Amino acid sequence: MVPIMSHCKTGAEHIASLKDGRTVYIDGELVADVTEHRAFRNAVRSAAALYDFQARPDNIEFMTFIPDGSNRRVSRAWQMPRSYDEMVARRKALQAWAALSCGFLGRSPDHLASVLIGQRMGIEVFEKRSPERAKALAGYVDFATRSDLFLTYVIINPQAERAKDWGAQQEDLVARVVDEDSSGITIRGAKMLGTSSIMANEVLVANLQPLKPGEEDLAFCCALPMNANGLRVLSRKSYEAHAVSIFDNPLSSRFDENDALMYFDDVKVPWERVFVYRDTDLCRAQFHDTPGHAYQNYQAQIRLSVKITFLAGLARRITEAIGTTNIPSVSEQLGMLAAEVGMVNAMLSGMEASGSQLGEWYVPNKHFMYSAQVLTQDLYPRVIRTIRDLAGGALIMLPSSVLDFGNPEMTAIINKTQRSATMAPEQKVKFLKAAWDAVGSEFGSRHTQYEMFYAGARFVTCGHSFRTFDWKGAGGLVDALLSSYDVQSELARANH
Ligand SMILES: Cc1cc2nc3c(=O)[nH]c(=O)nc-3n(C[C@H](O)[C@H](O)[C@H](O)COP(=O)(O)OP(=O)(O)OC[C@H]3O[C@@H](n4cnc5c(N)ncnc54)[C@H](O)[C@@H]3O)c2cc1C
Repeated sequence: MVPIMSHCKTGAEHIASLKDGRTVYIDGELVADVTEHRAFRNAVRSAAALYDFQARPDNIEFMTFIPDGSNRRVSRAWQMPRSYDEMVARRKALQAWAALSCGFLGRSPDHLASVLIGQRMGIEVFEKRSPERAKALAGYVDFATRSDLFLTYVIINPQAERAKDWGAQQEDLVARVVDEDSSGITIRGAKMLGTSSIMANEVLVANLQPLKPGEEDLAFCCALPMNANGLRVLSRKSYEAHAVSIFDNPLSSRFDENDALMYFDDVKVPWERVFVYRDTDLCRAQFHDTPGHAYQNYQAQIRLSVKITFLAGLARRITEAIGTTNIPSVSEQLGMLAAEVGMVNAMLSGMEASGSQLGEWYVPNKHFMYSAQVLTQDLYPRVIRTIRDLAGGALIMLPSSVLDFGNPEMTAIINKTQRSATMAPEQKVKFLKAAWDAVGSEFGSRHTQYEMFYAGARFVTCGHSFRTFDWKGAGGLVDALLSSYDVQSELARANH
């Protein structure tokens, strides 16, 4: 029998695992240690806090489980639900994680865990094409689960010339296979946009966008440690580094998970980490013919349910701060917002309740998930606009920074001018700075772009909804109506 260890991965362990010599660039420089760099260190600590949270004795049962044959508890994100009840228990754990960042860590470790368990549930899709690649995937998911790995993924090609096929882009743009030998393959080129990659252990590299026969060089999927030789990570601007203080930017300063372009400079991948090889259709099937895509986007809706609830709380608090809550048109706006939060939660419950058994596994209702995805990528910017509409200039009429409170002359004026129906001046400033960080700062603005695009542009998500809807059932209702009368029966009725 495997002895049970009493604990699971901790934050300190996660931080230590990131000191691995990875190649990350920002502001023209190579980063010596992402865990200490001012662009990333707080986000890294927020990621670590997720592991500390699940390791707490009072949370461990709720947040973790012991994988078969293992001796260490890991996040429930890795648990493959066998029933509705297990799915709901897993979701509650994921919501508890999301609540730690108010839903602003989009690519917390549960996202990739969801991708991988979903694909693992459909392992026969891989087996049909290549038993070796299927074995590699199953072995990797087992390893990632037991190690409670934090993974990110890059599955989208760099936006360049959209009118051209991926295979027709400039050479070396899109990551492709450039060599193979008995030990593995070599890849060269780029992928966008490894969110959370600076604080992840590994990256899954795949191709979600449709490929054509002839584009086999681009048709691969593999996993790499973030310190793989030749893997170069080019970070976008750090909002954490530009945050003034926690008081001024409570979200940007701590939850800037980062997004980065990844360049594979002749990176060697051993065969046991290659899951798809030169198979354009399997690139599609690994996401769409397995529950992979359903599980990954179900996780995104779980996280969004927390974030949108937080935003509703923010909206109401703004109206309380400026004393408008009971103006009929304002409470109507809040009522609409509350209904929208209810809709997100109802869609989440719906995809769970109307899920189905896929052999041993319980999977969410795919069309309900796509419906949620299409509707919420439109909803998010609308919610942000509503909050800005409710706030007026309150989000801007704020002291330049927390340092203003260190100047008695300024504090006296702040105390006279930052008046509110419900909050003391300091409290009002603190709250409105948090609100601006969520909806108006560069960080907040990136979140709007994220929610609009993380699952693909609208033509992509609507395409999924189009493909998975029960058109036959809908058309059947139309046919039933039409078959209840015809010209002859109507003529007979008219002549009666
Ligand atoms: C903040 C953020 C984080 C991200 N994180 C990740 C990540 O971690 N991993 C990852 O792999 N990817 C990530 N992405 C990438 C994301 O998946 C893509 O942005 C998304 O799939 C859309 O692809 P695109 O950016 O190439 O836009 P496009 O597909 O080029 O779409 C942009 C716009 O162009 C138009 N358009 C383009 N093609 C068509 C067409 N055929 N028909 C109609 N209209 C068209 C539409 O107006 C569309 O809205 C992230 C993106 C953002 C913004």
